[in-house]
Formats: sequence, C-alpha cells, structure tokens
Amino acid sequence: MELCILGCHSATPKASLNPTSQVLEVNGEVFLIDCGEGTQVQLRRNRIRFSRIKHIFISHLHGDHCFGLIGLISTFGLLNRQPDLNIYGPKGIENFIKHQLALTKTHLSYQLIFHELESEEPKKILETEKVSVETIPLQHRIYTNGFLFKEKPGDRQLLLDVLQELSIEKAYYKSIVKGKDVKLASGKIIKNEELTLPPKKTLSYAFCSDTAFKPDIVKQIQDVDVLYHEATFLEKHEDLAYKTMHSTAKQAGIIAQKAKVGELILGHYSARYRDTEDFKEEAETVFDNVKLASSGKKFTYHLA
Ligand SMILES: [Zn+2]
Repeated sequence: MELCILGCHSATPKASLNPTSQVLEVNGEVFLIDCGEGTQVQLRRNRIRFSRIKHIFISHLHGDHCFGLIGLISTFGLLNRQPDLNIYGPKGIENFIKHQLALTKTHLSYQLIFHELESEEPKKILETEKVSVETIPLQHRIYTNGFLFKEKPGDRQLLLDVLQELSIEKAYYKSIVKGKDVKLASGKIIKNEELTLPPKKTLSYAFCSDTAFKPDIVKQIQDVDVLYHEATFLEKHEDLAYKTMHSTAKQAGIIAQKAKVGELILGHYSARYRDTEDFKEEAETVFDNVKLASSGKKFTYHLA
C-alpha cells in the first residue's frame, strides 16, 4: 500500500503548498482522494499516470477539496481517455461538474459515472477484486465523508508439505484455498484447517478530513493501520477549531489513540502556522506514532 500526498494544506494557496489531494495505491489499484486546485499538476509532478485513476473520492464540496476536479476531468478528455471515470461525492456533485462542462462546451471522450452520497451512516460504496471502500460520516460545516479503504482478505495459504504428503492432486488446490475440505480416495475427510493457514493479514487506511472532533468515528476506524486525520489548528486555537468545525492536532491524536491505529498522519494545516513540527509535537502528547503530511511526500506500507 502506498500513499502519495499531492497536497495537504487548507484554504488559501502558497507557493509550495497545495490544497488537499492524495493518491492511494492498494495492490495495484489507484484511488484519488479529494481534488483541490492544482491536482493535475501535482499528479504530473509525482509521475502518476492519469490513466490509472478510475475512481475519485470527494469528501465534501468546499473548494480546497474539489476545485481541481473540472480541470482534471477536462484534461482526461483532451487525452482521449476511454475507460469510465467514477466519482463519489456529496449530492450535488454531478450538477456541479455538468454545469461547468455544459457552459464551457466541453465534450468528453469517456463516460463519467457519478455516485452521489447523502447517507449519515457509514456505507460501502465500492468493492473491487482487491479493495473495499466505505464512507466515514464526518462533522463539518457542510455534508462531509471520510473514506475507509480495506484490502480484502486473500485466499487461505496452502501447507504444501501436508498436501504432498497426503498426495492431494493439484487440481484441488483452487478449492482448498477457498476453504473447502478434501475427501481422500479412502473416503476420509481432511479438514481445510489441516491443509491451510489463514489468509495473509491485510492493510487498511482511513482518510478523515475535514471534521470537527468526532469521537464516534473511533468504532469504525478501530485498529486501522494508517489514519490520516485533519489537524487544521493547534490547541491554542481550539475555539477557532470549534467554530469552523475543524480539529486540533491534539484532538487528532486522541482519535488515533482511542482507535488504536498503527500510524497517524496529520494534514490540512491552517496557513496561519509557520512550523508544522508543532502539530506533530502536540499530537505526540497523546499518541506515539505521528507523521506529518507534506506535498509530494510518499508513505509506503508492507506487512511484516
Ligand atoms: Zn472544508
């Protein structure tokens, strides 16, 4: 699993900082999460092939999370893209894009498929061969979802020495990895657990931005390997966080600690702060494994 941060700052742009967008690659499948202005340039800069993106997830319709979408969609058309593009986002996103396409007389070479979201409950929105994606309802000034990506468990692992000892034919391996028992020629049934080990452990990633401090997401993201949580403010501006429905670094740390996640990545820093290290320090007062997102930074995860 690899996460590439294309941008992670909030609201107003600065020379070297980009608004929210990130690319998550799981088992060769590529997902774009949020699409702030400049995302297509950031994709180029980070050498991510446009054609690999088949699913885009938009957390909410604030500009710093979606103003890059029309540019990217239009560029895909200029490149004569053929595969469908799926867009998951709040109700209204289809109108938002289609108005711009119509007014600018932009004709696309491919199909745009919108999946509009309005549920206040977690919902599974995508299931591919290798990954499932569900919404994490968040609390913000407008309707907002985070997204939880879970690698699907693979097949059970064959105990080859046992299978060979019992002279079980290879033709049966396909059903054995799916959990089937085996009947020997003698009529004796060998339980699957004697022939296999459980599937390999899988990885999970939760993206939570933008949101006020919302401890009730803890249950849904319990034990995820990696949590990206917004930290727009530091505790000294807790009142501002409350007013604007954002979180402080410490609050992000509390969520990570309560959910017992493997690693916490902070982002969405307000432009008022000069040094992002302060965010790390503050979150570390409650949770040990804290990393800071920055434009162009890559995080790679392997199972032990
Ligand atoms: Zn927002």
